Amino acid sequence: QWKGYATTPEAEKVAKFKGQKGSDGKYMVTLIEGDGIGPEISQSVKDIFTAADVPVKWESVDVTPRLIDGKTSIPQEAIDSVTRNYVALKGPLATPIGKGHVSLNLTLRRTFNLFANVRPCKSIAGYKTPYNNVDLSLIRENTEGEYSGIEHVVVDGVVQSIKLITRAASERVLRFAFQYAQDIGKPKVRAVHKATIMKMSDGLFLSIAREVSKDFPNVEFDAELLDNACLKIVSDPTPYNDKVLVMPNLYGDILSDMCAGLIGGLGLTPSGNIGDECSIFEAVHGSAPDIAGKGLANPTALLLSSIMMLQHMGLTQHADRIQGAIFKTLAEGRTITGDLGGKAKTAEYAEAVIKNL
Ligand code: NAD
Repeated sequence: QWKGYATTPEAEKVAKFKGQKGSDGKYMVTLIEGDGIGPEISQSVKDIFTAADVPVKWESVDVTPRLIDGKTSIPQEAIDSVTRNYVALKGPLATPIGKGHVSLNLTLRRTFNLFANVRPCKSIAGYKTPYNNVDLSLIRENTEGEYSGIEHVVVDGVVQSIKLITRAASERVLRFAFQYAQDIGKPKVRAVHKATIMKMSDGLFLSIAREVSKDFPNVEFDAELLDNACLKIVSDPTPYNDKVLVMPNLYGDILSDMCAGLIGGLGLTPSGNIGDECSIFEAVHGSAPDIAGKGLANPTALLLSSIMMLQHMGLTQHADRIQGAIFKTLAEGRTITGDLGGKAKTAEYAEAVIKNL
């Protein structure tokens, strides 16, 4: 059993964040289906959970942004639902490029203080890629950096976007990364940075990493420049298998998509946004507008995210059962979606997973 989907160093603490168990013995979980391919891949998760008798009841909420006084606002019902249930599964949300309001994804992360984005990237047994033994663990700072939304026009033709790094946010994500490494049994943590250029911001992140490492004497710590890490990982990812990579927000976004390419693409990479109270699980990919509504999307990334969620909730037997069925279906290779070289529609793949439960 690979523990990388078991998300959370906060496991014991999180046991109490299982969600609300109703009188029927089922846990209420918020479901944000999302945009583009979101509803199609959410349907696959719902069908597979029903077939696998997972004790989860979905509370579907709409997060269509509301612009109130020039600020993006998530509907209060959605906020109340996640706050009440502690756990949510989320489909992708489209962000308009260059328009006035803040990304809804960012708003969700900020609203629930989801400070650590856990992005495991592991080869899928039976699905052949140039490297078949990739087992990368990326932790992305999830609340600040270039995503702080501090941008302004200086004069006509000159704009500034500010990268914000704080001690508080850096320290909590770094502590999380060290604890996570211990919990999933990886001996090393490596901070990925660009402190040669971002001397102050990445410099602060790096110096806090060194400080925090002293509290984890059993975990080896080192650091690597982002560009070097990219080159090395695409050349051969295996030397990174024993490390948890932790980095500021934007680097984590980009590096994790790059790593997804090593194991078969965005259709296969899950993630968890972990906070002290609530956690929201979602695929790494976006709303894929180019294939939306055509039944072509691969639901595996959202399914694996739902497995991370079940692990997080302590429903490990259900997580293992669904994970086994997914891996079997992918290894058989008969009913796989177009992104993996197959011809199956989203629903046909989900049916094949159900047969393999
Ligand atoms: P994308 O991840 O949506 O798509 C990139 C490519 O990967 C596309 O060719 C797409 O068809 C393919 N792809 C993605 N997921 C797939 C799946 N499950 N099965 C098969 N193919 C898949 O990235 P993008 O096109 O840059 O972004 C589209 C929108 O999604 C944008 O508005 C962006 O802001 C948003 N986005 C949201 C999130 C999120 O909600 N967390 C993350 C990334 C992007």
